[in-house]
Amino acid sequence: MLTNLAVRDIETLVHPYTNLAVHREVGPLVLERGKGVYVYDVSGKDYIEGMAGLWCTSLGYSNEELCDVAYEQLKKLPFTHIFSGRSHDPAIELAEKLKEIAPVPISKVFYGASGSDANDTQVKLVWYMNNALGRPKKKKIISRLKGYHGVTVASASLTGLPANHTDFDLPLPGILHTSSPHHYRFAQPGESELDFSARLAAELDEMIQREGPDTVAAFIAEPVMGAGGAVTPPEGYFEAINAVLAKYDILFIADEVITGFGRTGEMFGTTTYKMKADTLSCAKALTSAYFPLSAVLINEPVYEVLVDQSRKIGTFGHGNTYAGHPVGCAVAVKTLEIYQRDRIIEHVRKVAPTFLQRLTRLAEHPLVGEARGVGLIGGVELVKDKASKAQFEAKKAVAAKSVSFAQDEGLILRAMGGDRVAFCPPLVITEAEIGEMFDRYERALARTLDWVKA
Ligand code: PLP
Repeated sequence: MLTNLAVRDIETLVHPYTNLAVHREVGPLVLERGKGVYVYDVSGKDYIEGMAGLWCTSLGYSNEELCDVAYEQLKKLPFTHIFSGRSHDPAIELAEKLKEIAPVPISKVFYGASGSDANDTQVKLVWYMNNALGRPKKKKIISRLKGYHGVTVASASLTGLPANHTDFDLPLPGILHTSSPHHYRFAQPGESELDFSARLAAELDEMIQREGPDTVAAFIAEPVMGAGGAVTPPEGYFEAINAVLAKYDILFIADEVITGFGRTGEMFGTTTYKMKADTLSCAKALTSAYFPLSAVLINEPVYEVLVDQSRKIGTFGHGNTYAGHPVGCAVAVKTLEIYQRDRIIEHVRKVAPTFLQRLTRLAEHPLVGEARGVGLIGGVELVKDKASKAQFEAKKAVAAKSVSFAQDEGLILRAMGGDRVAFCPPLVITEAEIGEMFDRYERALARTLDWVKA
């Protein structure tokens, strides 16, 4: 029986990333409030937010300091744009802080409002820069199958998932995809992680050779693939990729939209995996999701090209109204202050062993083929047969079923293609809450097994 709110939802909303035919029958989960790592629906039922919203509410719910700073900024100056040389204190302070903590030398910060627009900015910067440098052929960008970089036309092209391409006439020409570095699923029998990494780097090298090194401008990667299934890179992967990119003078864009600000147990995933990135895209935990804000961190050579072009042709013609929104910047400054003051990264390192121990214990379950993670992000892959790694039929949607049982048990998770389920709780989660989260998922898995067998 649908509630009144559910009926009104169905009558009015088109939900992103939702099977709308199913939604029309079952209706939404309507959440009302949150506290710490818990959210509550309109009936008062509690759920552990095992996905930190969408990989983003790193400081959990109802953080009074973030609410206060947003309110104060709203009262003082709710909006000013930063076009045409205008600026404001929170935008400047935040950029200073980001430069200070960036994992690679960064010269300047370009703001946006979402991870997708940050990655669109990256694409446009690459194209603009190579035009300016008189290399109009050097425009191709390589990303990875199962990588996720957003949904706008350029960032959806970078994304390596069929659902973002099929029926949208994407990817754009000049955006190419190399193999996913998921060892469990794509390594050859008996192939070590190091050998797999070397093979993928050789494949990238061949792709660049085939396309012509003078036509390939950039490579983009998430340190840990999020929507591709919370996939951590195999040993030696980014070291091998770094070497290929350096050989052909190819810009390395790190998509830190999920991994930025402590998720992997370091401030940035770039550091965890020794990625020699040139530029970074950040969003989500930048404001702990209390306000939509993204930041592209660019290096000095890219910035110098922008200045030089401004001298020659005038305005750099890119940016959106809400880029560097004062409320978002004020919230982000406070968020970064809290990360440092409350030693959030130390906290992640302290609780990560419990998280990873409970996560990997899931692999003992008959349905779980693989469990992998780092810091406070991880995933499992559900399989029909553990020995052969055979998958269930996609339309059976076994992972989605386990996530719906989890929701019944009071835990919000996310199912992804290939029957993968991600765990990405708020960074402030305690060891006891981690235990409760996995207890709830273990109950959900038991129910999933009964359902599969029935
Ligand atoms: N990049 C990564 C790695 C992401 O996970 C996401 C979203 O989940 C994006 C980019 C796109 O961000 P947004 O949804 O804010 O546009």
